[in-house]
Amino acid sequence: MTLEKEGTDEYWRKRLTEEEFRVCRQKGTEPAFTGKYCDEKTPGVYSCRCCGQPLFHSDSKYDSGSGWPSFYQPITSGAVIEHADSSHGMKRVETVCAKCGSHLGHVFPDGPEPTGMRYCTNSLSLKHEK
Ligand code: FE
Repeated sequence: MTLEKEGTDEYWRKRLTEEEFRVCRQKGTEPAFTGKYCDEKTPGVYSCRCCGQPLFHSDSKYDSGSGWPSFYQPITSGAVIEHADSSHGMKRVETVCAKCGSHLGHVFPDGPEPTGMRYCTNSLSLKHEK
């Protein structure tokens, strides 16, 4: 367990904006087509907004048309953890940062080759670095 993972709401409220806190720590979702990285095409690494761990590389980003940044794979196999999520009356798979537990989004089996997966991710959960 890392310090970040054990961080209290108070810990995170001091370090995140209200919207970041709602998405990252309370499993919220930013409205479609509003996130700053939805159409981002600059090469680089997308890291966790909360703890800075690298999560996705721009090489695996593609235009899914969903309104959220979409990747076909995490930057390393251990960077993102997947959990079953049955909230909101849907059976989905939630994605979280393996280091700090921050909510990232969901993963769906309708992505492009080579993995066939779509890691649908909130811009607010990410920080893009060139
Ligand atoms: Fe993190």
